[in-house]
Amino acid sequence: MKAFEYVNAQTPESAAGLIGTEGRYLAGGIDLLGEMKEYIATPARLVNVKNLPTTREISKTPEGGFRLGANVTIAELAAQADLPAGLIEAAAEVGSPQIRAVATVGGNLAQHSRCWYYRQRDLTCLKRGGSTCYARDGENKYNAIFTGNPCISPVVSNLAVALTVLSAQAVVWRKSKEVRLTMAELYADAWNNPLAQNSLQPGDLILAVEIPAPVAGVRSSYLQVSEKSDFDWALVSCAAAGSVNEGKFRGVKIALGAVAPVPFQMEEANALLEGKPCNEASANAAASLILATATPFSHNGYKVPIARALIRRTLLNLAK
Ligand SMILES: Cc1cc2nc3c(=O)[nH]c(=O)nc-3n(C[C@H](O)[C@H](O)[C@H](O)COP(=O)(O)OP(=O)(O)OC[C@H]3O[C@@H](n4cnc5c(N)ncnc54)[C@H](O)[C@@H]3O)c2cc1C
Ligand code: SF4
Repeated sequence: MKAFEYVNAQTPESAAGLIGTEGRYLAGGIDLLGEMKEYIATPARLVNVKNLPTTREISKTPEGGFRLGANVTIAELAAQADLPAGLIEAAAEVGSPQIRAVATVGGNLAQHSRCWYYRQRDLTCLKRGGSTCYARDGENKYNAIFTGNPCISPVVSNLAVALTVLSAQAVVWRKSKEVRLTMAELYADAWNNPLAQNSLQPGDLILAVEIPAPVAGVRSSYLQVSEKSDFDWALVSCAAAGSVNEGKFRGVKIALGAVAPVPFQMEEANALLEGKPCNEASANAAASLILATATPFSHNGYKVPIARALIRRTLLNLAK
């Protein structure tokens, strides 16, 4: 690991000032320290953001929603029984108990690509500023089946997928003021730009995530399939939120994870479900619409049937 300076930020403004052009924010360190040990990241300075005021709290917003501080751990989320079920389920599936005890909400959302080639210190793939995406014609088992750019590295944050269907917003400290980004906005740049992991700009600091107040009758569900039962990312994940009234879907949102550089949503599929009976036929129709444009690579066609099954199961869970 390359030598670095370490500083403790006390306010968002000082954190943004301290990071400079060669620093990185440090939260739990699960992702960043791994990158540093492999010389994929060589920051001159680590700015510890875990002591920033109020960022370790889960609180209520004035509107009755939830505010999750950026430094709340995944384990704390998973243990917070009054949060939406889909978010608790997504948190409980992250890594292992040891990882969940340390990893934070902000770090989970801002974690970098897990593509093998990206994490290989001796290769400089397109995402790291090179000219080639090695995964396209190489080992692409874990890569995306939807993308808007030559990089096929998918977003692997469980929280991003669950928070997308809950209409959550990230509260980001940007250029000395707070801005709010939907989950779609937080990742939009990664759809078009092979170099982008997300839409955060240099110096942007996630302060919190806000979830709107729960609406009576609205449920949420998150499911994933991984190769290992523990200590592993999802091969495919799916979250859904919405209600089932008199047996019919209302206001449903679906998002897939680990299949695209962004939490993958299709408005047409959400619209198709509106007022349709909550049954396998409707859920399959939505899955077919979402997956119609998937373009699997040589080793990841298996993701399509898994995604179909997860869409069906999460949708049917909304009636339980
Ligand atoms: C074996 C293993 C299995 C895993 N399985 C899963 C899984 O199933 N699902 C899943 O979602 N994740 C999984 N992870 C990833 C893990 O959840 C993330 O690495 C972790 O959540 C990162 O959080 P952190 O607090 O440790 O972030 P750090 O490592 O400290 O930071 C990660 C990145 O976020 C930036 N950052 C941190 N805080 C902020 C902030 N407030 N504002 C802006 N940028 C910030 C850092 O600069 C860095 O680039 C797994 C990791 C491992 C090692
Ligand atoms: S998928 Fe993206 S991260 Fe992986 S090799 Fe290609 S450019 Fe690099």
